[in-house]
Amino acid sequence: MKASTDNYQADHWKLRGGPAGLHVFNRTTGLHVLIEEIPVPASLHSRAPRQVSIALTNRCDLACAHCYAPKSRDELRFDVVTRWLAEFDSHGALGVGFGGGEPTLYPDFVRLCQHAARETRLSVSFTTHGHHIDGVLAEGLRGSVHFVRVSMDGVGATYESIRRRSFPELLARLKHVRSISRFGVNVVINERTLPDLDEAAVVAADAGACELLLLPQMPVRGVPAVAPRTLQGLRRWVESYRDPLKLCINEASADGFPICDPLVEERGLRAYAHIDAMGVLKPSSYHETGVPLGEGGVLKALHQLAHELAESDV
Ligand code: SF4
Repeated sequence: MKASTDNYQADHWKLRGGPAGLHVFNRTTGLHVLIEEIPVPASLHSRAPRQVSIALTNRCDLACAHCYAPKSRDELRFDVVTRWLAEFDSHGALGVGFGGGEPTLYPDFVRLCQHAARETRLSVSFTTHGHHIDGVLAEGLRGSVHFVRVSMDGVGATYESIRRRSFPELLARLKHVRSISRFGVNVVINERTLPDLDEAAVVAADAGACELLLLPQMPVRGVPAVAPRTLQGLRRWVESYRDPLKLCINEASADGFPICDPLVEERGLRAYAHIDAMGVLKPSSYHETGVPLGEGGVLKALHQLAHELAESDV
């Protein structure tokens, strides 16, 4: 009896030490508890970022204008990714988010999620356009994925003009997504999608989503950053939103929004790092340069990246 209790705890809870205290995380429920009363000496602070995103492949069968992923066939090797996951896990990372490109096009995607869930205590999530998620894929992922993020830029004709896929088809796919795990909806915010936000939030909540991630459009390859007036409109929308979805925003766009961040001392590389499909470690997916992950492992590359970022700030 005792052994099964221990197994339950080992599988569901993870501890992370940091400047704000002891961080307890349950990957199954998504519950975070920060115990500020327990000071953690600096020598015991977790050395890995809290969350890591990994672009498994640059391949994608859509062609969204705002996409930052290079259109190439670069893909990460399975054994290399699993080695990185083990290292991140043992140094205190809480979660990994797989992306791309489109991660469901990665040949070993199901096996990789199953490996990550079984061999690490990381929370496993992925970001997808959703159009390949059917009953078979959902069944393969169920139990090995703790959260799914589905990209949905606007609704109806807005969505279809950006993604060039059927919106009703996406809604049908959300039924399969819902059967995998808790899920959220990502919306790139620009002047076309902002007017749809009320309806997008209703559609997402009705489909069973628990979170709406707002991603103000970043400048990429000739596509401009979101216009200041659109950003102001988004701030007004956020202030007036009263419905049930949890609203989130990426750190780079959070200025001026009413955010709750109990881990203010854990920003930058302490909070988040990205590995692109060529194996380059970056502060975010939008950064064009970073540190190639060689044989030295992720912690060594993190150290070098932190050093380079500090130098560029001087
Ligand atoms: S679905 Fe995602 S990866 Fe594919 S083109 Fe659109 S933004 Fe890029």
